[in-house]
Amino acid sequence: IKLIEQLPIPSMADIPTLIIVLGISHLVAALVMTVLWLSNKQLNGPKEWALGRLLIFFSFVLFLSREHIPLIFSVISGNALLVSGMYLILMGNLNFTKRPLPASHSLFIVTSILYLTGMFYWSAIEITYSNRAALSSGLLVIFMLLYIRSIWPRALQQFFFSSILLIFAFSFQAIMHTVRLIFSLGGDSSQNFLAPDMITESILLSGIIFSTLTAMGYLSITAEYLQSELKQQAELDPLTGAYNRRTFFTLANHVFLRCKREKQPLSLLMIDLDYFKSINDRFGHARGDKVLIDFVQKSTEVLRDHDIFARYGGEEFTVILPDSDEETAFTIAERIRENCHRISIDDSTSGNLLSCSIGITSHHPLLQADDLKSLLEESDQALYSAKNSGRNRVLHFS
Ligand code: GH3
Ligand code: MG
Ligand code: MG
Repeated sequence: IKLIEQLPIPSMADIPTLIIVLGISHLVAALVMTVLWLSNKQLNGPKEWALGRLLIFFSFVLFLSREHIPLIFSVISGNALLVSGMYLILMGNLNFTKRPLPASHSLFIVTSILYLTGMFYWSAIEITYSNRAALSSGLLVIFMLLYIRSIWPRALQQFFFSSILLIFAFSFQAIMHTVRLIFSLGGDSSQNFLAPDMITESILLSGIIFSTLTAMGYLSITAEYLQSELKQQAELDPLTGAYNRRTFFTLANHVFLRCKREKQPLSLLMIDLDYFKSINDRFGHARGDKVLIDFVQKSTEVLRDHDIFARYGGEEFTVILPDSDEETAFTIAERIRENCHRISIDDSTSGNLLSCSIGITSHHPLLQADDLKSLLEESDQALYSAKNSGRNRVLHFS
């Protein structure tokens, strides 16, 4: 038993090997991010992620070369590359989530100078590894918290599942470095980065896991983002952001069948802007586009969450009002028509106001036979009558 007690505690792997693996994992991540960047040039983020990872890789090369170059040079330049790399990745996150970058980088520069000064002091003047470890872990924790904030979903529409993976990885790394910070503060100052000890080994191992996990996280959050963009392009009208005609038919069929099954009424509005051609002719096509955008924005304001508003074509729009009878539909249509008058075509407060005509049809749960096509025809006929009887009015199909 005495003999066993005297045996050294076996180490998981020797520290230089772990540093090499960690460095390589950042290099691999840099390559993956570069491919991501080159294949999606329109995306913001991958460029900074790639460059950041590359700088971090070189920082590990410098850390490892401490046997061959002066310690100060290895520690100072290695750490300078490390913080720059981490800062670049933070910028990448902010770019990716479309959040504002800091107005100036002075806070970062001042912090880096303080950090490097500390590193210089504890590696050249008073050589204490534990203080250097505490300092670098402290800075890493700050970076992890900033990363979490930069990727934290702001709204449900911008939620990506992969952000959970990234936030998990950042939190994990923050916890590991908090532990190391605490140990280093109360630690034994004779430690050395390259000498085996449990904390350093665990930190390096967790660093390897972190580096791999975040590379995957960035890759998958980008894929998720591209997918959501594609979905939007397929479903929405690019000018106004309303559902396009194809989505309208898909959703309308779905709602129509549900209302029929649940014996609920359903109403359909067909809207056409009045004299729109003359708006284009008098104020230009760009102005006409702006009016369309304003109209969609103003109209959707008066709708409920489950109503479906779509651009049917040109300056024609349709609205599906589930669970709504004639009366409710009429009230909503009137609100849309009145809201229209709040849109000024030429930005003046009086005159040149927009108007629209609306045809309504309602499907009654007790009267069978209707299908979506006949509902569309009926609302179109009602719209035609509204136009013919002077425009700027709501008429019901009869
Ligand atoms: P009415 O009151 O009878 O509906 O008259 P109108 O001028 O609105 O109807 P018409 O169908 O003659 O003209 C529709 C115009 O809408 C013609 C077309 O140039 C314009 N338009 C269609 N799509 C767009 C678009 O995306 N942007 C712009 N600016 N104009 C569009
Ligand atoms: Mg028209
Ligand atoms: Mg029109």
